[in-house]
This record gives sequence, C-alpha cells and structure tokens, in this order.
Amino acid sequence: MSDKYQQIAQILCNITNQLIQQDWTYFKNIQVNNTRLKSRIGSGKATYCKHDIKAKTFTITYGKKMIKSKFSPDEVVHWLSYREIIRRNYFTGDTSLPCLLAHTVCHEFAHLIQQLSGWHKRGSIHNSGYYQILDQLHKSGLAETIKNDIVRECEAQNLELIANIQPAIVTKKTQIEVFFSVNDTVCFDYKNKTHSGTVIKVNRKTLIIRVKNLFRHSRWKVPKLLVRNSS
Ligand SMILES: [Zn+2]
Repeated sequence: MSDKYQQIAQILCNITNQLIQQDWTYFKNIQVNNTRLKSRIGSGKATYCKHDIKAKTFTITYGKKMIKSKFSPDEVVHWLSYREIIRRNYFTGDTSLPCLLAHTVCHEFAHLIQQLSGWHKRGSIHNSGYYQILDQLHKSGLAETIKNDIVRECEAQNLELIANIQPAIVTKKTQIEVFFSVNDTVCFDYKNKTHSGTVIKVNRKTLIIRVKNLFRHSRWKVPKLLVRNSS
C-alpha cells in the first residue's frame, strides 16, 4: 500500500498525541491517574479506542486502510464518521477529506474522554452522553483546529487530501486534447449522476474540481478525459 496512507495515519497520531499532552481545557474534571494514553497505526481498517486495564493504558488506533477507504467516494459513505458530519451538521456538513479526517480524530478522542470519565456503558457506546462530548469538541473550535493542523501537516509533506475517483474504462486516447484552466466550470459523470463544479487545479492528466452541493462541498480528482465543459 502506498506510503501516503501511512503518512496520514502518522499525522493523525501526532495530532492525537498533542491533544493528549495538552492540559485539557475543555474537560478539566477528568483525572488521568497513572494511566498512559497513546495512539498507534493499525494495519487494517479498524479504528478504535481501547482500554487495557492491566497495563493501565488507553490506546487510540488509526487503521491505515481506514484512511485509504476515506479517499474512496464509494466507501466513505459507509463510515459512521461520515454520517455524523451530515446528521449533526459538523463543519456545516462539509465531508471533504480534511473534515473527515479531523472528525475521525474527534470521534476517537470523544471515546477516550467517554471512557476516562466512566460514561462508557457496555452495549451503549454511541449514546447521548457520547454525542454531548463530540458536540462539545466541535462547538469549542477544537475540531476546526485539528482540521487546520491536518491540512498544514499534509501540505508540508506534499500529501494531497483529495478523493480518488477511478476512470471508467477509457479505451483510446482518441479525444482531441481538451484544455482546461483554473476557474472553468466543468462537469463529469460518476455513478449515473452528473456533477458540476469549478476547476481549482490543472494537473498533467487530471483536474482537481470543487463540487458544491446544497449542504456541502467536496474536492474530486478526475481524469481530464472524463471531464467536459459545462455551459
Ligand atoms: Zn465510535
């Protein structure tokens, strides 16, 4: 698997470690007595916060394949974190990758707080108490700060946070070369639906397109051959 997902997972771990080390302004009443808090990268999709009672350790695991999955428009919709952004209007419903990844950190961090504070009940994890914590992480501006940190770190490491879409079968390069420039209004088809948006970056073979819907906006990386000018 590309190193990219490993690098992004490491960025999420670093940000989580910083959160853990901060004095917890938002949750002053939580005692972290003799308990170690840490984060790690998992090799699969599983992403979770686990309490090892014997070792007195809470560990947040970010699965590398979870990150890969969030780059796929087909797969991302199956994640609870994606649905939470829409249902609870976090980031005003923006499900672009920086928001998705920042919300993933918040989701796990909220589990950590939930477990540390003893509000965790077996069989009832995503309960109203949990969502109070999660809402507070967003309302306080912490989620936004995490998003900005992720964007800054990814830019520093040249990692593009843009959803992948696979071209449908493009048989031959028979099309006449089409030139696009930034700010062009264009459209493309994906899953029987036509999306239109604005070109924000022109690469050699692909375009980065910003698509704006009623409640959210997202960025797409689309092969030029699949894009047409919309008039
Ligand atoms: Zn959860």
